[in-house]
Amino acid sequence: KLHNTILELKGNIRVFCRVRPILFDDAAENEPKTVSFPTTTENIGRGIELLQNGQKHSFMFDKVFVPESSQEEVFVEVSQLVQSALDGYKVCIFAYGQTGSGKTHTMMGTPGNFDDKGLIPRSLEQIFESRQMLQNQGWKYEMQVSMLEIYNETIRDLLTTNRHGSTESGTKQYAIKHDANGNTYVSDLTIVDVRSSREVSFLLNRAAQSRSVGKTQMNEQSSRSHFVFTLRITGINESTEQQVQGILNLIDLAGSERLSKSGSTGDRLKETQAINKSLSSLSDVIFSLAKKEEHVPFRNSKLTYLLQPCLGGDSKTLMVVNVSPAPSSINESLCSLRFAARVN
Ligand code: ADP
Ligand code: MG
Repeated sequence: KLHNTILELKGNIRVFCRVRPILFDDAAENEPKTVSFPTTTENIGRGIELLQNGQKHSFMFDKVFVPESSQEEVFVEVSQLVQSALDGYKVCIFAYGQTGSGKTHTMMGTPGNFDDKGLIPRSLEQIFESRQMLQNQGWKYEMQVSMLEIYNETIRDLLTTNRHGSTESGTKQYAIKHDANGNTYVSDLTIVDVRSSREVSFLLNRAAQSRSVGKTQMNEQSSRSHFVFTLRITGINESTEQQVQGILNLIDLAGSERLSKSGSTGDRLKETQAINKSLSSLSDVIFSLAKKEEHVPFRNSKLTYLLQPCLGGDSKTLMVVNVSPAPSSINESLCSLRFAARVN
C-alpha cells in the first residue's frame, strides 16, 4: 500500500515501532484490544494494526517490537548502528511518541534496574568494550560527552555545575554555531572527556537531576522538552594513520501529544506550539532528506539546526516510535504511527 511506496524512498533512515505493555494505570482490562500484530509471513515482526471505531489501520515499519520485547531484543537491532559511530559515522537515534508511551524507558531504562537498561547505557557499554578491543589494532579513541535539553526553543546545558547558567561576563547564550567543517557546536556548552561507561553513567545521573529540578519548577518540563545526549568519538590509528570522527546522538523527544485547545493557554500554549513546531520540522527534514530534495529546512527548529550535520549526507538515522496500547490512547497512537509512516 501507500506506506510501502514511501519505504522505497528512504536511504539511511530506519523506523522501528515499539509497543509497551498495558500498565495498571491504563485501566484497560475489560476493554477490547486496539493494537494487534499481523502474523502473515510477509509482515511478521514488521506490521502493526490499530483498531479505531471499528476501522482497521495497518502500518509497516523496518521492525515492530511487541509489548513482550525486552530491552536486550531492542538493543540487538540497534547495536550495529551504534557501532558505526566508531567507524566515523554520524548517527542519530530518536525516541518519538506521546508522554507515557515508553520513550524514556526505551532510551534510559529503569534507574537502578540492571536488566532493564535502555539504549543509552547499553550503547555506551558496547562502545567502550569495542574501544578496548580496537586498541589491539592500533586504534586510540577520545570520547566527549555533552547533554542538553531544548525547551521552548531554548537550549539548557544539563552538565553545567552552574544551574543559573550565568558567567562572570553575563548569562550564557547557548547559541548553535556551524563551523567551517560543517560541524555544529553550542557555545558555552559543557563538554566532558570520558574514559569509561561508568563515567558516562555518572554524568547521566547528573543530567537527570538537573532535568528534575526543572520539572517541579516548570510543569513536568521533562516531557515537554527534547533531551539530546551526544557522544563525540575521535579515533586515530597509530599504525595506519587513519583518522575517524563519529558522533552518536541519542534523543528522547518531547511528548508528541496534542493538548486540548481549552487546556492550552499562556505558557502551556507556547510550550505546545514550540513542541509541535520542532517535531513537525524534524519530520519535514527527514522526509525531505529521504526524497533527496535540494532544500532541506534544517533551520526551522533548534533541534534540526543542531543536528543538521548528523542528519544529512552519509549519516544514519533511526526513529523509534513508541506507542501505548491503551484503548484511551488510540487517537494519539494513530497519530504517532502516521508520523512514523511519513518519515519511513
Ligand atoms: P515516556 O518517556 O514516553 O513519557 P516512559 O518511558 O516514562 O514514557 O514510560 C511510561 C511508563 O511505562 C513507565 O512507568 C515505564 O516504566 C513503563 N514502560 C514503558 N515501556 C515499557 C516496557 N517496554 N516494559 C515495561 N514497562 C514500560
Ligand atoms: Mg519520558
